Formats: sequence, C-alpha cells, structure tokens
Amino acid sequence: MSHIIDFSLSCEREHPYWKSQLTQALLAWQEIEWLSIAYGLRRCALATINVERIKQLSCRVDNYGISILPIAKVAKGQSYQASIKWPMPGEQYNYLCAIGASNDVSEFKDAWENNNNELIGSLLGYPKCCRTFFKIFWEENKLIDTTWQMSIATDGAILNNNGCVVKGPLETNVMLRGVGLRSVLHLPCNHQCEKSIYIGEQLLAIGNRAGFNEQVDFIKRVLSLPVLWSAIDGIAEIETSLFKFRTLTDHSSTRMVVKRTDSRKNR
Ligand SMILES: [Zn+2]
Repeated sequence: MSHIIDFSLSCEREHPYWKSQLTQALLAWQEIEWLSIAYGLRRCALATINVERIKQLSCRVDNYGISILPIAKVAKGQSYQASIKWPMPGEQYNYLCAIGASNDVSEFKDAWENNNNELIGSLLGYPKCCRTFFKIFWEENKLIDTTWQMSIATDGAILNNNGCVVKGPLETNVMLRGVGLRSVLHLPCNHQCEKSIYIGEQLLAIGNRAGFNEQVDFIKRVLSLPVLWSAIDGIAEIETSLFKFRTLTDHSSTRMVVKRTDSRKNR
C-alpha cells in the first residue's frame, strides 16, 4: 500500500474481521500468481519477494519445473505500487523476481534489461489490447492512474462533464488495487475488456482449485461492490460501502468522478 495516503472502514467494529479477510486474500493471491504458471495460464510472473521467502518458495515451485530469478532490488513496500521504488543506500529491500520456466525467466530478464515492455507484458500474459493501452497512457503519456481513461473507453459509459458512469464485471475492477484487491494483474483497457474478464475468471478459478475458496469468495464479494472514484489535484479518493481510501493519482485542476457498478451483479 505504498501509495495509500489513508484508509478507513465504514464500520470500525468490523476492523479485525476485515483485516484478517484482507490479509488472507492477499496471501492467497501471492500463491495464485505463481500457480498461474504451473497451470499454464501464462509464462512468467513478476513478484516482489523478501530474501527468506525466495529460498522457501524456490523449493516449492521447483516441483513444478519453475524457477525464481531475482532481477532487481526494490525498496520494501506492500501490495500494489504504481511505480517501482528503488532502495536508498542503507534502506531495506526486497527482490523483484521473475518466476517461470528457466528459459522463460532468462527471456524475461533480457526484456527487462532492454526495457522491452511489449515483451514483458506478453510474457506476463497481459492481453494485446491492454498492452497497447498501457503503452499509450502509461509509457507515452506518463500517467500513474488509468482509471479515467479505461472508464471513458468502455462501451456504454455515460459521460457528463467531468463525470463518468460505467459498468463492468468484477474481473475488470482494478479500482481497489491500491489495497491489493483485484482479479487481474494488469491494467485492463476498459471495464468490459473480454480478454481481461477471461484472465480474471481463470485466475480466480485457479484460486478455487488450489483450495482458496473462502479467499476467492471474499475477493469476488468486494470487487462486486459499486465503487466511487473522485480525483483532484493529484489525490484520488476511492470509496465502497465497506471502506474508503485515498491514493496518489495524476494531476487535474477540476474534480473528475467515476462511478462503477458490477454489470453481472445479479448472476
Ligand atoms: Zn484489453
């Protein structure tokens, strides 16, 4: 949560329950990230791992023909980070690691060293449409938050001045990534991106197959909540009926608002 400015629950009495559920969901998600390679959904994963866990995880993934290759040191942080923070001299660090078959992680390392984001995205299993979206808004326009751009690119989005009302299934809800809750690892190009929906379904199904049923149910429940995102002067406030938090976003001098609901809520 390195870019989180503050976080509060709608009902403080539920704090221990919510905290425990969130912690369990994030732990399950760490497992799902590498299991997605074992299940053949994608070739590589990119994860921040501390030194002790690298040893422990290496033994486990070895059984699946998977290896872990540290590619850079990063400052210690938690959950989603809009950008990588390099450690200052003397600062504690974790390793950013590529996970995958040995030839795939070698290819990943080469792509990383050559700043080949297209190949990196492909190895991580990100859809082509979303890689193109990422290239335009993240690389070329230097945005750190694509919430507004993915919202106005969505079929059926209702635009009104600086407001946008949009619908999408839980799988494309990445508006809560600041607290680590999401079902895909990339930034979808819009709230109805079919390739992203498929990947989200597959990742959650892997969670179920691995026995994380309770955690997957929790992730689905939270990602199905309506979300209100509003941003001004580089600060975004993201609110659901369960909690709200503030995080850094791109600068705008007028308030921008996105309201999102789950289009498959009554499934
Ligand atoms: Zn897409």
